[in-house]
Amino acid sequence: MTAYKIHVIDVKNDLKNYIWLIEHTPSHEVVIIDPTEAQLVLDYCTQHQLKPSQIWLTHWHKDHIGGVPALLTARTIPVYGPRAELSKIPMLSVPLDQHSQVKFHDLEVEVIEVPGHTLGHIVYYVENLDAAFVGDTLFAMGCGRMFEGSYEQMFHSLQRLAALPPQTQVYCTHEYTLANAKFALSVEPDNVALQQRADHVEHLRYLDKITLPSSIEQELATNPFLRASSVEEFQRLRELKDHF
Ligand SMILES: [Zn+2]
Repeated sequence: MTAYKIHVIDVKNDLKNYIWLIEHTPSHEVVIIDPTEAQLVLDYCTQHQLKPSQIWLTHWHKDHIGGVPALLTARTIPVYGPRAELSKIPMLSVPLDQHSQVKFHDLEVEVIEVPGHTLGHIVYYVENLDAAFVGDTLFAMGCGRMFEGSYEQMFHSLQRLAALPPQTQVYCTHEYTLANAKFALSVEPDNVALQQRADHVEHLRYLDKITLPSSIEQELATNPFLRASSVEEFQRLRELKDHF
């Protein structure tokens, strides 16, 4: 699958969003995932001679969809996103659920429903690229806050992601890794893999470098929320983290 390249745009906003792009390199067409804002994306595409072709949204939060209207003004392209959040995303043109087929050139994309952070949150899993675009559900050594779903829903959503092949690269939307590492160490101080990862991440952030993507394998070794063995344990961790 050398015909594809994944790009990242660092929004450099307070929420530390990243906008991921998948380029089909022969055509220079790109999928834009969760565009926080439009101008950065348009400038990046001009600079790298990329052609916006599709927009994929994971959930309705403003920092994930804010750029959509202006991107559509520049060029009419399909906007994919969760059917369950259609009422909150008026510019959504291709509503998706877990039975939907999404295609980008010869990539076939699986839609995984992961309620918890929001009720309609979806993940785009691209098996051919060993890539999962997970929005605000799974973070490096952390997970999204639960605004809409129950602990049980979020636990099962994370378990579903934990069952992806270990080599799957995890493309999260925010650079929350360092803060997550500090919390993870507070609950698993003796986890050697976690200690090593935390040191590495601290170094990357010191150099102002991105810490993503992660991988399912790394998360299984170092993410307390994926390592929780029951809903009760997950809930205890999530509540601790909310007040950390
Ligand atoms: Zn969100």
